Amino acid sequence: MTQVYLKKKIAARIFNGHPWIFNNEVERVEGQAEPGDIVEVYYADQSFCGMGYFNPQSQIWVRLLSRKKEIIDEQFFHKKILKAWEYRKHTGYIENCRLVFGEADELPALIIDKFNDYFVIQTLALGMDKWKSAIVQALQSIFQPKGIYERNDVPVRGLEGLPQIKGFLTEPFSTEILIRENGLQFYVDVENGQKTGYFLDQQDNRRAIQHIVKGAEVLGAFTYTGTFEIHAAHYGAKSVLGIDISEQAVAQANRNAALNKLDHIVRFEAMNAFDVLKQWVKDGRQYDVVMLDPPAFTKSRETIQKAITGYKEINLRGMKLVRPGGFLVTSSCTNLVQPDLFLKTIQMAAKDARRNIRQVTFQAQASDHPILWGLDNTNYLKFLIVQVD
Ligand code: SAH
Repeated sequence: MTQVYLKKKIAARIFNGHPWIFNNEVERVEGQAEPGDIVEVYYADQSFCGMGYFNPQSQIWVRLLSRKKEIIDEQFFHKKILKAWEYRKHTGYIENCRLVFGEADELPALIIDKFNDYFVIQTLALGMDKWKSAIVQALQSIFQPKGIYERNDVPVRGLEGLPQIKGFLTEPFSTEILIRENGLQFYVDVENGQKTGYFLDQQDNRRAIQHIVKGAEVLGAFTYTGTFEIHAAHYGAKSVLGIDISEQAVAQANRNAALNKLDHIVRFEAMNAFDVLKQWVKDGRQYDVVMLDPPAFTKSRETIQKAITGYKEINLRGMKLVRPGGFLVTSSCTNLVQPDLFLKTIQMAAKDARRNIRQVTFQAQASDHPILWGLDNTNYLKFLIVQVD
């Protein structure tokens, strides 16, 4: 088997849990590996580091699958997916969950979301994509699912020389799936929805608004399937307005509101949040609770500053719309803005808005997306509630 030897200076990072080896971190490669092949990795002192898959066409040459010398075959993937499932069962994420969260489950670049009897998968690197049929087989044998769908229509696959595709990996099925969450029901469109169709990572955070929304007038922006807003109505809000720029998301959110018989309290409209929040501040509108869950404003380190400006702007506007004593519920889903920087950004927004804020709660993503220490990318979701005076 081909052997990859690391340069001395990167040993600490890899040793401490980071599973990626970049092209400029390899001292030498011994043997002939094809893109996507499994290789053995060694530290500069010749000691064994791990097994991984190799792609010299990508900037990340090796992603580690194991720290043990073991055979990587169909059985390996079965074992790893089973282990990931055991973890979800132990932590109480059973009906709907992120079954595999890539690196945090030692399955780099693999995402599997479970929506009751259906599964949506993404294989985002060549070395993982090669094992797609082994992954499907493992899911078949562990779960006997009603269907598996592939959402590989994501640009990041281009970095690995992979095409963007989506489609069925089993017999076709109706791609609009009904799920339950916190006693509510939601339609999930696994074919045309964003990412894998639904944001499971906020499932626990949605419960965190339970008490603050009672009897409240609520505004939600960046609502997608309307989950936070429908939760707010369910938890006793007086009225809820949700806005999202996508007509498709708004239509789906309104259907979800009706599905839960809450459409007399919550309604969704298609609008650009940046424009309307600015206007509504000018108009002097006020809400008891404002909820913001914008998309990642950046995907690259070069534009972090722009992203921070975006977060600050939108939170500044959101805060201004909160009645004194009310609450701002705000999230950020990019791993490039780490938690301390996010809090600083909110603080800057409060200063500019001339409002005093108090932290009520600060959380990360749900535990079916475990955080791998040593890989900041996995610590990506910030969820903050502040009281605004
Ligand atoms: N809160 C949702 C997830 C939101 S994802 C949940 O819990 O599931 C971010 C959403 O922001 C997407 O639906 C996207 O369509 C929307 N969006 C992006 N830019 C926007 C803008 N300028 N104004 C309003 N919505 C926007």
